[in-house]
This record gives sequence, C-alpha cells and structure tokens, in this order.
Amino acid sequence: MPNFCAAPNCTRKSTQSDLAFFRFPRDPARCQKWVENCRRADLEDKTPDQLNKHYRLCAKHFETSMICRTSPYRTVLRDNAIPTIFDLTSHLNNPHSRHRKRIKGLSEDEIRTLKQKKIDETSEQEQRHKETNNSSVQNPSAEEGGDER
Ligand SMILES: [Zn+2]
Repeated sequence: MPNFCAAPNCTRKSTQSDLAFFRFPRDPARCQKWVENCRRADLEDKTPDQLNKHYRLCAKHFETSMICRTSPYRTVLRDNAIPTIFDLTSHLNNPHSRHRKRIKGLSEDEIRTLKQKKIDETSEQEQRHKETNNSSVQNPSAEEGGDER
C-alpha cells in the first residue's frame, strides 16, 4: 500500500517518488506539533499512536537540516525534527476571506461614521444658513437705516 503524504496540498505518494516519508512521532508533544504545523484539524483528535500508524509526511516538509541521510537507502529525521514547510495557500484563503469580511464590517462602521459626519455637516450648514438668514435679516435693517437718511 502506498504511503500518502498527510500534508495539505501535497499529493506525493511513496510509490511516485523516491522521497523519504516520515511517520508521525509517537511522542505526544512532538506529534501535536506536527499536526499543528500541518493545519490538519481533522488529525487533532487522533492519538499519536493512530497518527504514527497511519499518517506520514514526505521529506518536502522538512528543512534539510532536520533530515539526516545516514545512507542512500536510509533517511532519518533528527529527534526533535518538526515539519515547517507547507503549501498552505488554500488554507490561507479562509483567513483572507475572514479578513475581507472584517474589512467590510469596518467599512460599514466607516459608513456609519461618514453618515454621522454628514449629519454633523448638514447641521453645521443649517447653522450657517441660519446665520446667513440672520445677516440677511440684519441687512434690511441696514437698508432701513439707509432709508432713514
Ligand atoms: Zn508532502
């Protein structure tokens, strides 16, 4: 049975390439780290034992410094190796759309503030209008003064 890489957006199989595949570590803390870095939420409720038995990551997800090639036929990971290289583009889309929604929410707030500003402006204009009215009211009196002459 071919080994499939558990990483998202990685379609490598052990039969397709000569890439090394690494089992998830049995150590719960380290296994947790692997699952976290994979962003595979569906693996989070699996036990390290299950993961170790059924899931593997290909060597593409490890920095070369994490991999020790002891011989052409044997590739092992360092004891504390953690996969860090993932193509998470499809996973990044979700936070992006969430980000967009958040911007939309902000713009709605902005619209509200803009509306509030408009109200303030119109009330200011109204006040100015009143002032011009007042001055126009004052003008006839000035004209009246002129009439008096
Ligand atoms: Zn892979």
